[in-house]
Amino acid sequence: MNYCKLFLITGLLSLVINVGALAQINENKTVLCLVAHPDDAEFQCAGTLALLADKGWKIVIATMTPGQAGSAVLGPEEISAIRRVEAANSAALLNGSYYCLESEDVFITYDKPTLLKAIELIRKVRPTIVFTASPSDYMVDHEIASKIAMTACLASGIPNIKIDGTSPYPFIPYLYYCEPTFGLDIYGNEIKSKIHVDISSKIETKESMLVCHKSQRDWLLKISGVDDYLISMLEFSKKEGKEIKRDYAEGFRQHLGFSYPRNNILKSELGKQVFEH
Ligand SMILES: [Zn+2]
Repeated sequence: MNYCKLFLITGLLSLVINVGALAQINENKTVLCLVAHPDDAEFQCAGTLALLADKGWKIVIATMTPGQAGSAVLGPEEISAIRRVEAANSAALLNGSYYCLESEDVFITYDKPTLLKAIELIRKVRPTIVFTASPSDYMVDHEIASKIAMTACLASGIPNIKIDGTSPYPFIPYLYYCEPTFGLDIYGNEIKSKIHVDISSKIETKESMLVCHKSQRDWLLKISGVDDYLISMLEFSKKEGKEIKRDYAEGFRQHLGFSYPRNNILKSELGKQVFEH
């Protein structure tokens, strides 16, 4: 088969998938946040999730790991059990649900078993929007989570990927990358978002969600003697807010590659609270 024919066929496949999308979009107001660790969603996109929840969207937060490395005192199973409850409590503040894909901190791997779990999640949740970590961030766990989310969005519609108890999802979700930690890549370069969401009206909700992760806040407080956990989130949200002359904001970049939907659904859903650059 020559390259042009292959391109035409994949193009048609994409068209079929996206026609399906148009039919489903209004009835499937579900947003999935798939990130590496418990508390990542709260730092990266909780304000925007809260705004979408107000518009009737169902919120699902999923993490690749239960955060088994997040304690210097408790063992991996003990701290994981605590952090699962903390993450579920945070999602519950938006009437949302929480899932864990059961990888381990530091060892999130881009391999077939992990991808199958992510594809299964997307087929079961059937989200219209997916948020994930920045493709470039200060630690590899975040970057691999980002890659896994990107592939799972595309692969969940492929019929020849068989997963018991699931059917292919005939829609590639709108995919948005959150900001890297403190907005920087590993060289210290600032990564500029092309989309900002004004979350000033939801900063207390974002804060309350982060406060649910008590084990992490207490740990950092003990180490540094400063409540850095909340302060760093507020400072960064404020810094992003300055980009759009608002009090607080969250920044995103949309995945605009081949086959993924390219219009900005955040703009059509959240209107004036969304700024495009
Ligand atoms: Zn993280």
